[in-house]
Amino acid sequence: MQALVLEQSSGETIATVKHLPDDSLPPGDVTVDIDWSGINYKDALAIAGKGKIIRQFPMVPGIDFAGRVESSSDARFQRGQSVLLTGWGVGENHWGGLAERARVKADWLVPMLQGLDARKAMIVGTAGFTAMLCVMALEEGGVTPEDGEVLVTGASGGVGSTAVALLNALGYRVVAVSGRASTHDYLHQLGASEVLPRSAFSERSRPLEKQRWAAAIDTVGGEVLASVLAQTRYNGVVAACGLAGGTDLPTSVMPFILRNVRLQGIDSVMTPVARRHLAWKRLQQALPATFYQQATTEISLAEAADAAEKLLNNQLTGRTLVRIR
Ligand code: NDP
Repeated sequence: MQALVLEQSSGETIATVKHLPDDSLPPGDVTVDIDWSGINYKDALAIAGKGKIIRQFPMVPGIDFAGRVESSSDARFQRGQSVLLTGWGVGENHWGGLAERARVKADWLVPMLQGLDARKAMIVGTAGFTAMLCVMALEEGGVTPEDGEVLVTGASGGVGSTAVALLNALGYRVVAVSGRASTHDYLHQLGASEVLPRSAFSERSRPLEKQRWAAAIDTVGGEVLASVLAQTRYNGVVAACGLAGGTDLPTSVMPFILRNVRLQGIDSVMTPVARRHLAWKRLQQALPATFYQQATTEISLAEAADAAEKLLNNQLTGRTLVRIR
């Protein structure tokens, strides 16, 4: 099988497409012939050898994939069945989706939903799945479309663009924050009613600012998240899932203790199985057909390393799909 293999040489991570024997796959209950994978922010960090994502080498990266069951020792999965996978440490500490085949635990797989196929599932991918978990967190915090505008930061990335499309489809008025003027048309097409420059959120904010947002989905962290919290309205909910702008959070307790603001963390990797299925069902129901046409760049396995670098340099928009076969 062909696979993107990460190895280490003198402390540097080297990414090469290699031919590997099938018996080199790790143990697992189900072997999957992969049709599509994607490049997520975490994949880009792993391939570039940044962020200490990979600790054991050689490693096949790829934190999500979709394909067909080649063989299974678990009664829940039959040969030929379409499946998808996100998270569980696959592509980090267990060989992942940037390969023609993967062998994984049956518990990690989600049967393909009706209305989706492998390509569509990977257009959504970990990024879109995370966006849905963020939306669910806002809903569980009691936020409704009547409450006011919802802000999405890092809006033209994978998580952000799916969050914009989802919120718009669910009836929310969405304001997008993007660092690139070139993405504004794209964000309006996805359903943003307004696009604000990242620079408006990058200055150190006062502990409390004018109340503007009923809720927010933040993929960026750092000063941007601090500004968002300071501008969130009384009883608002902020779902924080990312660190594209940094891991610090230079804020104060003021938004929490004076405005009842809720900061909800989001992790997609270890999401329990029942919530995973619910999130995928909601994605399948909510995303409009146009989303699958708007938000995608397609590349081959050989182009994955180059795409990873571009993603980290903020030169990609939306989801980057890897066609495996
Ligand atoms: P992308 O690279 O596709 O998107 C990130 C976006 O953030 C960019 O498109 C850009 O948007 C913005 N951005 C980039 N650099 C900076 C910067 N220095 N300062 C502020 N904003 C910046 O990544 P993903 O959408 O795949 O992931 C987004 C974040 O969410 C990542 O940090 C990722 O690790 C995290 N994540 C977390 C998950 C979880 O389970 N918690 C799961 C999936 C992702 P623009 O140009 O529009 O400003």
